[in-house]
Amino acid sequence: MQTAIAGGERTAIAPVEDAEAIIARAAEIGRVELQPLVHSIDAEGVYPEAVMRALGAAGAFRAHAPLAPDAAFDLKTSIGAMSAIGEYCLSTAFCMWCQDALGWYIANSDNAALKAELGEKVASGQILGGTGLSNPMKAIFGIEKIKLAGKRVEGGFEVTGRLPWVSNLGDDHFFGMIFELPEEDGRLVMAVADCADERIKLVEGTEFTALDGTRTFGLQLRKAFIPAARVIADPLGPYIQRIRAGFILLQAGMAFGMIRSCIDLMEQAGQTLSHVNCHLPDQPEDFRQQLAALEAEVSALCETPFDTSTDYFIRVLEARLQAGDAAVAAAHNAMLHCGARGYVKNGAAQRRLREAYFVAIVTPATKQLRKMLADLKAA
Ligand SMILES: Cc1cc2nc3c(=O)[nH]c(=O)nc-3n(C[C@H](O)[C@H](O)[C@H](O)COP(=O)(O)OP(=O)(O)OC[C@H]3O[C@@H](n4cnc5c(N)ncnc54)[C@H](O)[C@@H]3O)c2cc1C
Repeated sequence: MQTAIAGGERTAIAPVEDAEAIIARAAEIGRVELQPLVHSIDAEGVYPEAVMRALGAAGAFRAHAPLAPDAAFDLKTSIGAMSAIGEYCLSTAFCMWCQDALGWYIANSDNAALKAELGEKVASGQILGGTGLSNPMKAIFGIEKIKLAGKRVEGGFEVTGRLPWVSNLGDDHFFGMIFELPEEDGRLVMAVADCADERIKLVEGTEFTALDGTRTFGLQLRKAFIPAARVIADPLGPYIQRIRAGFILLQAGMAFGMIRSCIDLMEQAGQTLSHVNCHLPDQPEDFRQQLAALEAEVSALCETPFDTSTDYFIRVLEARLQAGDAAVAAAHNAMLHCGARGYVKNGAAQRRLREAYFVAIVTPATKQLRKMLADLKAA
């Protein structure tokens, strides 16, 4: 079985016709359905499944992952929808990114059977799922070893290994993963796995500082069978170059939503505390300008997500690094501007601060981005 990626060049990027309507609907879902849940998501680890399904029905997971052969990829609409939700809750925005990444993988695969089986269901949110690519993303850039090993068997592969954390999962969810074939010189293969497979165990147990509502599990695979119809790319080869920028750019939605909400918190605090808050060195206007510059850069980068040049990739990494830094800085300042009212147990500022660090530590984390930039610039 070979489903080699021919790399069909689909570079025309046009916004979907109803982009504004999709983002507006996501914002409404955020305000009406998500806002009342944010404390239970944060404090009790409630998984916002109904919100995710509603977002899927609203088209929030679709624009960047078209299935028709000549359709244009529009990352900006999906980023816009994610950022609208990120203004309320980073757990949900991250679940959206997980879902978007899974759709992105499928849409960019040349495997027609995979697209036919899962493409529309993932794009519509009928099937939810995630991505276990932190480990291979780190492995490809020389940070750790690949954790999943596979073997070619009749009709597909058998895969064994463990991944420490994969989010947006459940018994009827799917996830993207990469495994190596030790018997084939370490050839890498990417595929979609089904959590319902009894040889895939979802292990609960880790409690996080924030993001506990993301249904994040440890995964144990023991000879999990991956049918040929679920292979995304074999060999991985050029496919990873094709998806890497989109994988990273889509994460901007989490950062933008976070920064906007923190500007809002600073402004709310300013209504009664401006006489003292004006002495803080960083003001809402500083973050507004930073956000506008970042949005413009990400928007420009979203025009050519399949550009495989080093210069382009460096710009993507720099934008991602700045987005993580700005999210943490904005949340830090929201805390300083809100003061004690942000420091209470249910205070928005302390929740946003805990959440914001996730933007900077999820793969590619700040330290990985800095390593990648140093390596690329030294080459
Ligand atoms: C809430 C949450 C959700 C996540 N969701 C996903 C996801 O959906 N998909 C995905 O692929 N990755 C996911 N990750 C992993 C994440 O993307 C990073 O890979 C992870 O945070 C480690 O990155 P790092 O750069 O800090 O790794 P490093 O500091 O380089 O650490 C390397 C490895 O050490 C291990 N490690 C470090 N500390 C601990 C610890 N306390 N307990 C157990 N193992 C540890 C991990 O395997 C980690 O990958 C999630 C992490 C968190 C916290």
